Amino acid sequence: VGDPKALLLTLVALGCAGRPKPIADKTQQPIEVAVTVDDLPRHDSGRPPPEIAKTLLDAFARHRIRQVYGFVNGKKLQDHPEDRAVLEAWLAAGHPLGNHTWAHGDIAKIPLDEYLAGIDRNEPLLSELQPSGRKVFRYPFLREGVTVETRRAVRAHLATRGYRIAEVTIDPFDWAYNPAYIRCTDISRADDAAALRASLLSEARAKLRWANAEARVIVGRPIRHVLLLHLGTIDADTIEDMLTDYERLGVRWISFDEAMTDPVYAGDPDVADEGMFLFQLFDAKGVTPPPPPLPPSALLKVICRPS
Ligand SMILES: [Zn+2]
Repeated sequence: VGDPKALLLTLVALGCAGRPKPIADKTQQPIEVAVTVDDLPRHDSGRPPPEIAKTLLDAFARHRIRQVYGFVNGKKLQDHPEDRAVLEAWLAAGHPLGNHTWAHGDIAKIPLDEYLAGIDRNEPLLSELQPSGRKVFRYPFLREGVTVETRRAVRAHLATRGYRIAEVTIDPFDWAYNPAYIRCTDISRADDAAALRASLLSEARAKLRWANAEARVIVGRPIRHVLLLHLGTIDADTIEDMLTDYERLGVRWISFDEAMTDPVYAGDPDVADEGMFLFQLFDAKGVTPPPPPLPPSALLKVICRPS
């Protein structure tokens, strides 16, 4: 990477030429999207998590977005008891909480028994916070099993415990921008921070276009989508623009329950280690999708580092 900032600004300029235009659709149907947020009560330490949560929750209220599942890792609350305010604010705003395992374990790296125990260990906290809530599970790293056998074992365990699985179809990789964004804001590099926000927004729009187009290819019709965000610093600083962009592109917000009525989520692609749900659907049919847009990762490594 030569001059990271010049490169980033070029990338951003390529990705966001003016106000986003609606995604063309002969039927004029809106793109239906449910919103979910991972890594409650703490995703990063860029600023106090209750502040980040308040910013996100206020934006969801302004845009009338309902039933935004927040997926919880209990260990983070054990490490930072002051973050309990995040979970209480989430519920007070009328949004439910889901299980993201106790310690955000990676099924590719820890034994199956430990992974399953991590699901169960998170349950007392969740049932204490929302005694009558439905049980919903989000896989950390969106990894469902390195082998089909592991995948089936986790699914069997989740079924025994009564969980619905919260798959993801729109994944803007906000988490990848966050460390760089926090570095830039920490040293008051406002231009670089603004460029990173613009880059994430550009990627989020491109990911929506990709998911909308590729779902039609592999399912044969439009589907109800699930968007993944995180309780991150850059999320707080882009949420208003991201939601507005999506609405201009033709998104209609739906609840998680509405998304789950799409029959596509009743099926199990039953494939090993394919991550995000649309990739699983492609893999199950032996088809390779065109690559989705990705963050400028080389640049994110170097920007706002001491030179
Ligand atoms: Zn996570």
